[in-house]
Amino acid sequence: MDYQTDAVVIGAGVVGLAVARELARSGVETVVLEQGPHIGEETSSRNSEVIHAGIYYPPGSVKAATCVRGKRLLYEFLESHQVPYQRCGKLVVAPPGCGREALEPISQRASQCGVEDLEWVDAAGIGELEPDVDGSWAILSPSTGIVDSHQLMLALRGDLESAGGMLAVSSPVESGAVVKLGTHRLTVGGATPTDIGCKILVNASGLSARSLWEKLVGDAEAPAQYYAKGHYYSYGGKAPFSRLVYPLPEAGGLGVHATLDLGGQVRFGPDVRWVDEVDYSFDDSGRADFVDAIRRYYPDLNEDRLQPGYTGIRPKVVGPGEPAGDFTLFGPQQHGIPGLVSLHGIESPGLTACLAIAERVAAMIFGKE
Ligand SMILES: Cc1cc2nc3c(=O)[nH]c(=O)nc-3n(C[C@H](O)[C@H](O)[C@H](O)COP(=O)(O)OP(=O)(O)OC[C@H]3O[C@@H](n4cnc5c(N)ncnc54)[C@H](O)[C@@H]3O)c2cc1C
Repeated sequence: MDYQTDAVVIGAGVVGLAVARELARSGVETVVLEQGPHIGEETSSRNSEVIHAGIYYPPGSVKAATCVRGKRLLYEFLESHQVPYQRCGKLVVAPPGCGREALEPISQRASQCGVEDLEWVDAAGIGELEPDVDGSWAILSPSTGIVDSHQLMLALRGDLESAGGMLAVSSPVESGAVVKLGTHRLTVGGATPTDIGCKILVNASGLSARSLWEKLVGDAEAPAQYYAKGHYYSYGGKAPFSRLVYPLPEAGGLGVHATLDLGGQVRFGPDVRWVDEVDYSFDDSGRADFVDAIRRYYPDLNEDRLQPGYTGIRPKVVGPGEPAGDFTLFGPQQHGIPGLVSLHGIESPGLTACLAIAERVAAMIFGKE
């Protein structure tokens, strides 16, 4: 063994960094291994950067609980670490012709999940808040916000290192063996191949979670892995909205919505396209569908201002046509291997929930959950 430490977290996305920070701050010697040359270059920098309120997820689900708690923890963290964010609010809009009942399921779920600050807005109210938005009814979520995800990850990394933790980039975990008793072993590639031993191992490798699990644990049972790609178009020129604008959710995603970045630029997305592999290329062939979807709530859309932006891929534990899956924190209670937690299906709202997921992972490792 070249190197021995208490804990290894595989993956330096927002969730891996938050988990590593939590472990290091609990006094555990922690190393993060990241295959890429920089932190957060996969899903954590290919998303909408929205701080979700927690209004969509089934009551009792891990998504609902970690989103609602994560939002609170995240706002406190952003404030204390001076990470740029904006509590801009969001409208979820029912299209003209739809009654208020189209939004009732969201309102009820939100209330069951402990989100009590939603406000009903009628068509006239929508016009006052966002004159360019067309809708019959809307729900206003004042606690929804936007964040600079890269600055967030830098701040998490800063805390990790201040607590004595270490980040190793360009360090892909290639294989390994987990054990029921003793030390887990990892073979790390890169310029200086290394064997690392650890007692605590967290698989936070996002889109690779399932394939890495197979390399480390073999074909023992683990959550399935599917990919749903989403495209974003940027909208050139002055932003027509001052809040985020969402349609009614659709299967597999939240619908093609309008988000703002902290520079005030609007982007529209993401759509949902099921894919078999991780490929971030942009396919412009869905443009007409985008235009249709956006015009349902923003009829004055100027198509010429839409420019292909970027894509992101949702790691999912269920496939097309199945009911939405939950975050799966696969820990010792599920698989029986002490010190091992494997995170699967950490799609949206994983950015919002990262600090709450980190708390749960630590509790699983220390036997408190
Ligand atoms: C289209 C889209 C929109 C979204 N919008 C939002 C949103 O608005 N709000 C929100 O809260 N959430 C959103 N999310 C979800 C959020 O982005 C993710 O939940 C979050 O970024 C997941 O972080 P992660 O650390 O688990 O994964 P990642 O960011 O993917 O990090 C995993 C890391 O593991 C590394 N890795 C993989 N294999 C290995 C290996 N063998 N060895 C070492 N390193 C390895 C990768 O290089 C990567 O850096 C969205 C997601 C998508 C796809």
